[in-house]
Amino acid sequence: MSDSLLADAGTRLQAAMKHVSISEDAIARLKHPKMSLSVSIPVRMDDGSLTMVQGYRVRYDDTRGPGKGGVRYHPNVSLDEVQSLAFWMTFKCAVLNLPFGGAKGGVTVNPKGLSKLELERLSRGYIDAIADFIGPDVDILAPDVYTNAMIMGWMMDQYSIIRRQISPAVVTGKPITMGGSVGRDGATATGAYFVIESMAPKLDLIPQYTTIAIQGFGKAGAVLAELLAKAGYKVVAISDSQGGIYAKKGLDIPSIRQYKMSSQSLQAVYCQDTVCNIVEHEQLTNAELLALDVDILIPAALENQITHENVNDVRARYIFEVANGPITSEADKVLDSKGILVFPDILVNAGGVTVSYFEWVQNRSGLYWKMAKVNENLKQKMVEESQHIWSIYKELAVSLRTAAYVHALNRLGEALNAKGTRD
Ligand code: GLU
Repeated sequence: MSDSLLADAGTRLQAAMKHVSISEDAIARLKHPKMSLSVSIPVRMDDGSLTMVQGYRVRYDDTRGPGKGGVRYHPNVSLDEVQSLAFWMTFKCAVLNLPFGGAKGGVTVNPKGLSKLELERLSRGYIDAIADFIGPDVDILAPDVYTNAMIMGWMMDQYSIIRRQISPAVVTGKPITMGGSVGRDGATATGAYFVIESMAPKLDLIPQYTTIAIQGFGKAGAVLAELLAKAGYKVVAISDSQGGIYAKKGLDIPSIRQYKMSSQSLQAVYCQDTVCNIVEHEQLTNAELLALDVDILIPAALENQITHENVNDVRARYIFEVANGPITSEADKVLDSKGILVFPDILVNAGGVTVSYFEWVQNRSGLYWKMAKVNENLKQKMVEESQHIWSIYKELAVSLRTAAYVHALNRLGEALNAKGTRD
């Protein structure tokens, strides 16, 4: 694999290009991020000292609409990573036919090491630094890894202070009281659930006989685990960054979620309590989880989890990518040759940005939806685009990932074409 995450992401275009009538010029444009902003954020710490923190915002492409994408707080955030994530957002929004381009933000920080006030100062400082680069019709922010509704609320408030007008539509994933949408919190998981549910009959999967392992027990992984368990699937393994737990008979997901709330690691929380006695279980590492002999493997943590180094250990029949970019392009080829079907991130985890779109629509119309309407619209979109990608996959005999890129490229190519030459 190339050292650059973005270069690796770009190889997915290569595979899809030959199946689409799109000009060389359009492809050339799509291989490069449109704008990348790098900022230094001064943060006043509680002890009075000043820390400088590195931040980024990348607008990859805005041919189909304003840039859209989350902001990640993580110690490993780099410009290359943010550019790749913005690339994926571009294709994700096109797959779901949302009127958005792709963007992403990131701050190189460990948020767990900050107090709540420091986190607020950092979030407001980030908006001060990028305010000229974003806006409800320009580039719209949202949560991502280690950011949440509270942080989105501060960001929206700071932007409104700078503009001297209340601007809810500049950020999605806000608290409900600040113009957030019901259903946005669990949207990534709910969307992934709708994809699995609509694909299950095609894969001959019957919930009671289907075993599932999920890597990542954050907002997406934990909620999805619960939805799947409720639908009768056997979730046999889950993990967080410290490691995971496995139970052959299936884990008791609701009680594990409750214990995890006390913010300890999964293994510690699970084993300290009587819940240990509910089901017999073993501890396992993240590497062991990825190598489990299960029907469905769901990477729901970070990128680059399945690479040339461990791809030969993978034994699942199907992979649904809930994380962004968990499989490298090199590993993809091996999975393909082993007949392991991969449902790609730009479809599977698109429920988050889809409900973000609903939130943006609600902010702009001033009319707020009920949960039933959000979920109904989400389901309709996820199912429709899943079926569409499935037919491209069958028709072209390509991987599901390439089918998804073909689907997105058709829409992007059409938009680029309609705009004509702007050079
Ligand atoms: N961070 C999420 C993603 O990667 C959501 C983005 C959004 O809602 O704009 O899809």
